[in-house]
Amino acid sequence: MLEPHSYACGTWIAPGADAQVLKSPVTGEAIARAGGAALDFGAMIDWAKARGGSALREMGFHERAKMLKALAAYLDGRKEELYALNPLTGATRKDGWIDIDGGIGTMFVFASKGRREMPDGKVYVDGGVEQLSRKGTFLGQHVAVPLRGVAVHINAFNFPVWGMLEKLAPTLLAGVPAIVKPATQTSFLTEAAVRIMLESGLLPEGALQLIVGRTGDLLERLGAQDVVSFTGSARTALALRSMPNIIENGTRFIAEQDSLNASILGPDAAPGTPEFDLFVSEAAREITTKAGQKCTAIRRMIVPEALIDPVIEALTARLEQVVIGDPGEEGVKMGALVSEGQRADVLAQAERIGTEARRVFGDPARAPDCAGAGHGFMEPLLYCCDDPDAASIVHETEAFGPVSTIMPYRDLAHAAAIANRGQGSLVASVITSDPAVARDLTLEMAHWHGRLYFNNRESAQEATGHGSPLPHMTHGGPGRAGGGEEMGGVRGVLHYMQRTAVQGSPDILTAITGQWVKGAEERKGPEHPFRRTFSEIEIGETLHTKSRTVTLEDIEHFARFTGDTFYAHMDEEAAAANPFFPGRVAHGYLLLSFAAGLFVQPDPGPVLANTGLNALSFQKPVSPGDSLRVRLTCKRKTRRTDEYGEVAWDVTLYNQNDEQVAGYELLTMVSYSR
Ligand code: NAP
Repeated sequence: MLEPHSYACGTWIAPGADAQVLKSPVTGEAIARAGGAALDFGAMIDWAKARGGSALREMGFHERAKMLKALAAYLDGRKEELYALNPLTGATRKDGWIDIDGGIGTMFVFASKGRREMPDGKVYVDGGVEQLSRKGTFLGQHVAVPLRGVAVHINAFNFPVWGMLEKLAPTLLAGVPAIVKPATQTSFLTEAAVRIMLESGLLPEGALQLIVGRTGDLLERLGAQDVVSFTGSARTALALRSMPNIIENGTRFIAEQDSLNASILGPDAAPGTPEFDLFVSEAAREITTKAGQKCTAIRRMIVPEALIDPVIEALTARLEQVVIGDPGEEGVKMGALVSEGQRADVLAQAERIGTEARRVFGDPARAPDCAGAGHGFMEPLLYCCDDPDAASIVHETEAFGPVSTIMPYRDLAHAAAIANRGQGSLVASVITSDPAVARDLTLEMAHWHGRLYFNNRESAQEATGHGSPLPHMTHGGPGRAGGGEEMGGVRGVLHYMQRTAVQGSPDILTAITGQWVKGAEERKGPEHPFRRTFSEIEIGETLHTKSRTVTLEDIEHFARFTGDTFYAHMDEEAAAANPFFPGRVAHGYLLLSFAAGLFVQPDPGPVLANTGLNALSFQKPVSPGDSLRVRLTCKRKTRRTDEYGEVAWDVTLYNQNDEQVAGYELLTMVSYSR
């Protein structure tokens, strides 16, 4: 018998006397005792803040990202321990792949985004500098810092590993400790993953605690610096988010709740097209994966009126092939629902749907032909609602299992109107090859959907699937879906941070962000900046070059050499007629090349390569006879590997009147050693 423990204040705590007995959805046998432990929730919060929060904040974004990467790799190395428990949740190995490998993959993505998209420091710089004054002595910048509270993650039963890791990765990257509360029914799998992470020794004490069972007075204790990230039913979300202290303190509450996701078959996708087949295969997969227990699963299929029968026929043929049975057995395509109780709940919801729609596949009264059929197993059920306008239950009732309803549409506006009857969904898919259909439906549906997924013959091979939330993209939806957003890359990290607008002089902003801002102090280094190693170069270190004159011969030579004989460089009369130029002018690219010629230090040295250039703008034309000089200032430094880091330089080109003619950010890789 499994006994998932809680982990509180550095100690593993066994289930209490009144623990819940969990039964296998496959055999009906008791498999675990969970919950009932006497936990001191106040002490857990204090432990998280005092130990976990302060240790995490000691680290910068890149250190935390490295920690996540190591943690994901460690989990990956021991994932078979998780796969061994996976069938006890009713899930097949393929279902488990979404949960276990999907969760680990999500953590890897956050680790990589943390290193690539967040600064090598403790203050996140959000967006560009805002010019708030004419002379540039008073500027604005948005920054974000970690909240000083604790993140409470309450998760649904269907993804015991992914559900935890997709929240934990952005939370830890932000620098905030977490208390994780998994759904009791699958808590043993979450507990195993938490044990592995703690055994890795990679996490600071207090960064991660686990509650198996009820949350006691934990939520009542939360304040303004805490975050609740909840996944589950709309009913529980409402009860929790309307707790007086949550409202009073403005405690951040992210809710991911149920959703009547739709999939629309485009008007162009007639039988015989790859799109028709794609629609059917995605729909069949969404009905059967995790036995339909996915928040993003397709609950409503919206199909052109004339194609209702072909769709039913094609889906029936697919669903007849699905082998239902013990998820641990080879060849089984659909396992069991998570529990017998869940099956009863799904059948009750399906019965409600049946009052508005005719059943066209499967029989709720018939047990699937497999061993243990009485427990969590059920057949996929397919309904068809012929009049979706008059219906309401089919748009409101989430049967959280292998149940879906087909409904006809007349035209695109009608299809969008039906999809929007879900009153806020996590995702809708549209299978079409017609870009105009995609554009029109986006305009009509995006306001009710957190994600729109378009697929057709061109993207089919590489498309990630209607039902897969990806760490790069936001997951969540408006209205009934909870109004929350998770993941979405760095956006998801910011849920656990406070965004603050800071205003002040360039020197003040430079000191706060660790990034040089135009107008801040320029330092003269002891030698050419390209001779300095990564650690020697200081933020603000500046080189002012000598100047060179740009001649007409230079311009003509460059034009001939590169083939860029655009009239503005070659034809005095035509150039003068152009509203931007006084006459023939130098090529912008010639100016860039001259700038490099002015600022480089040619000998081998710590600068290894020029890797890019950002935000280039040409601000004033340069005419033959004008001269050019450059200011090169170290703006930002980011460690990249064990050998070198990226140095971003603010580069400005001036003419003989000290007017700015061009500017950009130059990226170089610079070695840590000479
Ligand atoms: P649920 O009953 O609302 O439970 C969700 C979580 O809340 C569980 O961990 C549960 O713990 C906990 N919980 C329940 N009452 C609580 C309370 N008073 N205080 C603190 N925690 C409490 O949802 P479910 O029926 O298990 O999950 C299925 C639902 O989740 C479906 O509607 C599905 O659409 C939704 N879901 C949404 C997403 C998404 O990302 N939008 C993802 C997955 C699932 P116990 O298990 O201990 O009761």
